[in-house]
Amino acid sequence: MEVEREPCEEPPPTMMEEEEAEAIPVAKEPPRIHRLDQSVVNRIAAGEVIQRPVSAVKELVENSLDAHSTSINVVVKDGGLKLIQVSDDGHGIRYEDLPILCERHTTSKLSEFEDLQSIKSMGFRGEALASMTYVGHVTVTTITAGQLHGYRVSYRDGVMEHEPKACAAVKGTQIMIENLFYNMTARRKTLQNSADDYPKIVDLLSRFAIHHINVNFSCRKHGAARADVHTVATSSRLDAIRSVFGVSVARNLMKIEAADDDVSSSVFEMDGFISNSNYIAKKTTMVLFINDRLVECTALKRAIEIVYAATLPKASKPFIYMSIVLPSEHVDVNIHPTKREVSLLNQEAIIEKIQSAFESKLRNSNEERTFQEQTMEPSSSGPKDTRKDSDCSPKLSGSRSQKVPVHKIVRTDSQDPAGRLHAYLQVKPQSHLGKESDLTVVRSSVRQRRNPKETADLTSIQELVSEIEGNSHSGLQDIIKYCTYIGMADDVFALLQHNTHLYLVNVVNLSKELMYQQVLCRFAHFNAIQISNPVPLKELIMLALKEEDLDQQCDENDDLKEKIAEIDWENEKSCFQGISSALANFFALHPPTLPNPSGDNFQFYKKRQSSRNPQDEGNSSNSLVDDVVIEEQIDHELLAEAENAWAQREWSIQHVLFPAVRLFFKPPTSMATDGTFVQVASLEKLYKIFERC
Ligand code: ADP
Ligand code: MG
Repeated sequence: MEVEREPCEEPPPTMMEEEEAEAIPVAKEPPRIHRLDQSVVNRIAAGEVIQRPVSAVKELVENSLDAHSTSINVVVKDGGLKLIQVSDDGHGIRYEDLPILCERHTTSKLSEFEDLQSIKSMGFRGEALASMTYVGHVTVTTITAGQLHGYRVSYRDGVMEHEPKACAAVKGTQIMIENLFYNMTARRKTLQNSADDYPKIVDLLSRFAIHHINVNFSCRKHGAARADVHTVATSSRLDAIRSVFGVSVARNLMKIEAADDDVSSSVFEMDGFISNSNYIAKKTTMVLFINDRLVECTALKRAIEIVYAATLPKASKPFIYMSIVLPSEHVDVNIHPTKREVSLLNQEAIIEKIQSAFESKLRNSNEERTFQEQTMEPSSSGPKDTRKDSDCSPKLSGSRSQKVPVHKIVRTDSQDPAGRLHAYLQVKPQSHLGKESDLTVVRSSVRQRRNPKETADLTSIQELVSEIEGNSHSGLQDIIKYCTYIGMADDVFALLQHNTHLYLVNVVNLSKELMYQQVLCRFAHFNAIQISNPVPLKELIMLALKEEDLDQQCDENDDLKEKIAEIDWENEKSCFQGISSALANFFALHPPTLPNPSGDNFQFYKKRQSSRNPQDEGNSSNSLVDDVVIEEQIDHELLAEAENAWAQREWSIQHVLFPAVRLFFKPPTSMATDGTFVQVASLEKLYKIFERC
């Protein structure tokens, strides 16, 4: 029935009035305090210990581990709400203990409070089983060594529902919880509405399985033929991780160890397996055991994530399995009702030590990886005098960046190419590209020419060379010297990283200018061929230019051709300058004539053929259709040729152009403004933008 409201005469009270009204205490009798019914107390407490199905599984598995089981099997129905059953082959429970087994605060693991200091078992509060009986129906089947039969008994609200019944039993204990939260409507509803706990249970068992490698674990859905976790005891932690988390995780793990026995700071031993830079995941997996307890430690997790983000080129979330052992008196296990967290003595110091162990492990692995994939780094073979700054050596660069604030940390430096696009690409078995032998050939030839004899004796050339030197831009020079080549951004622009900045650099302009400078610097030092009669250069050049575009009918380029061919042969300086420019243009790394097949140009490599359906022969009404029926096939030969040409060019850009540029190039000031160098990102600015978000 709806209550009819009287129309309100007075305006409704404002916020202020309402607050004031509340602030005036109404003279009321104080409510009576009474003692809660024990069953209410127990049920409230139970709701805290058993928050959801997965917390019940954790308690039961921990009990099985405390009972020295070597095999633990879990069966779950309806995400644990209908049934959770944990069977083990542990020492079992004595017949005479069954009546108090599920009472609150009954335990076989602790007697004195002081025992907590040295407790090795996972349980000690004597609350888990009791709690389960307040929020579910618990049935225990157990047998101890030497008994002919076992006993089965069910519990409700902490007490036995009947006398234990003799039954057939296999070694150990089986505990079954049915209808979890049957008496807690709100919780059951929330749990039923949310995704079920089964994945969480599988995850939990997976974690236990990789730590307790001498125990067989299995976890399956009720009625399912296959187990979702199934491990057999092994002596190898890595094998256990492989069988639980899969090959793709296990093959990207490295062993890590750290320890400290300095009583004044921290005492601990840590060992584990952590992911390397090839591991890719969307979220961090951190399996942490402290003194064999599966716990969480947000501070440690964050600390490690920071190291990963700062050290590895791919900012992937890591996988970490870690076991930390401390003197038990340094761990307070009693800070959380479900023992999910523990508190450590000198936690800060321990975290710091572990953090630096991670850092050096990751840095080392990064360097190892670099040297495996990039057998030689061109820049590192440069002569000593080109590297004035001694702290650019790979070793020092690692330690140098340790105290750099995160927003200034760069993924790579010019000596450490781990961040290059190449590291991300699958290496195709190319016939001759990127092979070490090629590198060696190129490098030795570069080395031979590294210190060209002093330039030609000609004043004109000397003038041109000193123009180059006088016009050099020091900022660009620094970028070019200490940059990292990341990869080609498109057909013409390469992406470079210099400190915290990213640049796009026009490789055509760059290579042309480099060649121009090289021609001038080595003027008169190139190998020469003696020709008896002078050659008609102009005619030859015109011929060559005409031949290049024979198929082009229009002559609009003739002007240009005249220009190129018309080098000023009379004035020495401009003659040499003209020749150098022409040679530079010839040797510049222009994009290959065939379009880049990796771009939108792929279309170019599709053969277009008209195919005529024989049945339609002579049928004029269909002739329109005939023209449209086009079979698209890829011209594999042409495609391969193009791929090869583009790959070769990129190889030359990375392995020839940039190392040479680093050593010899004097960037002209004009390049800072003519679009040859364009800054595309700066980490500091990005940080500012993100801070505002
Ligand atoms: P706690 O583990 O804190 O002692 P629990 O309520 O979890 O408290 O368990 C109570 C007691 O029941 C344990 O101390 C242990 O003696 C016994 N118990 C429970 N589960 C098992 C099991 N799977 N095998 C043998 N004993 C068990
Ligand atoms: Mg327990």
